[in-house]
Amino acid sequence: MRVMKFGGGCLRSPSDFRRVSNILESFTDPIIVVVSAVYGVTNKLESAAQSALDSEEAISPIITDLRDQHFEIAASEIQDPEEYHNTSQQLDRIFDKIERLLYGLAYIGEIFEPIRILLLSQGERLSSVLLAGILRSYGNLSVSLESEQIGLVTDACYDNATANLSAIKMNLLECIPAYLEQGCIPVITGFFGCTETGRVTSFGRNGSDYSTSVIAHALGAKTIDIWKDVDGFMTADPRLVSHSVPIETLSYREAAELSYFGARVLHPRTVEPLIGTFTEVFVRNVHNPSSRGTLIQCDGHEHHDVIKSVTYNLDIAVLKIHGAGVGHKPGIIGDIGDHLSAERINIYSVITSQTCINLIIDAKDASRSKTSLQPLVGGVIEKLELRIDVALIAVVGEGLLSTKGLAAKVFSAVAAEGINVEMFSAGASEVAYYFIVKKNQMRSAIESVHRQFFAR
Ligand code: ASP
Ligand code: MG
Repeated sequence: MRVMKFGGGCLRSPSDFRRVSNILESFTDPIIVVVSAVYGVTNKLESAAQSALDSEEAISPIITDLRDQHFEIAASEIQDPEEYHNTSQQLDRIFDKIERLLYGLAYIGEIFEPIRILLLSQGERLSSVLLAGILRSYGNLSVSLESEQIGLVTDACYDNATANLSAIKMNLLECIPAYLEQGCIPVITGFFGCTETGRVTSFGRNGSDYSTSVIAHALGAKTIDIWKDVDGFMTADPRLVSHSVPIETLSYREAAELSYFGARVLHPRTVEPLIGTFTEVFVRNVHNPSSRGTLIQCDGHEHHDVIKSVTYNLDIAVLKIHGAGVGHKPGIIGDIGDHLSAERINIYSVITSQTCINLIIDAKDASRSKTSLQPLVGGVIEKLELRIDVALIAVVGEGLLSTKGLAAKVFSAVAAEGINVEMFSAGASEVAYYFIVKKNQMRSAIESVHRQFFAR
């Protein structure tokens, strides 16, 4: 049994849907498909909510545009009139729902988080109906399944939900095997789940990768294929480093840290449900299906040079909390954490000293985090300083922490370019460390580290 996820980048045009179908036909194992929304649709739904608030007039063109995008694919790929009628009806029911949700938002004049998530979830509902209809029209047995329908239960954190693995296992084992026994391909909506009471929750942007491993975990699938429009993980972002190469194998930990520190290949939580299993995850390119892509597996293999990849995150900021005695004051990090979590601001990382606590946070939370800590200034905390002109660079590899001289190699490469390392952290993870540089020096820092480890 394989669980296969197709991302939005693999679902843009009619020929993409044909490509997906060809890939499915090339495997003999029973397959469960998990889909993202058709390319760009989640972004459109996200901005539709705001447009509906601004003006009710915006709603009708939004629906027309989304309908055209999906019906163009359906009309091209579904030849059988009966199947076309059936799929169209299912799609139209979803478009009706989107329209009502948008009018609802326009009337209420405010976006409530659960409603926003419900709206965003419609993209995956559309793509699963579309793909299942197309697969049937090509002569397969297929059914589209929505997350609520199969009991993909989560906690109630609407935009960053966590799957209830044991409940999901029970629920999925009740319904999915019967489809597989009939030779039917279930096409399940990625990206979202629901609370015990049926309210829709999401796993955050790009969350379908996480949905996929949750589903694989529940069904005991030992193989996952994450199909994308790139060649899997690379030694560096190919847009920055032209001679970067695909990585053949990564451990769960390496994949998790690379994703956490900025590689936009997988959702950072993808491997979480797989810990303790021996599931193999292949991240592969739909345009190059005969290539294996990157294999992510539970155990680590050390690369001869240890480092497997260098990655970066430009969307961070550093909040420096200055005070002569902050390092010694009990409870201060707790206070800071309380203030930030009240604002639902996530701390990405912390580096402290006696005189300064440095929080690495998402750039989008930067000014809000400074404002929310302002009430603490005056006592032990003397002042807050925000640094937004910074980037984080991480190097990842099994064995990194236990290899002598590795940090020296990384930093001498960076120093040779005249780049100042403003901060660094090692030891938090056995397979990764990271450092902070000025944003405008990120690119040459990445190039120099990559040259150091991967020059052939
Ligand atoms: N469609 C959602 C997004 O664009 C989820 C996903 O693609 O995994 O974020
Ligand atoms: Mg996506």
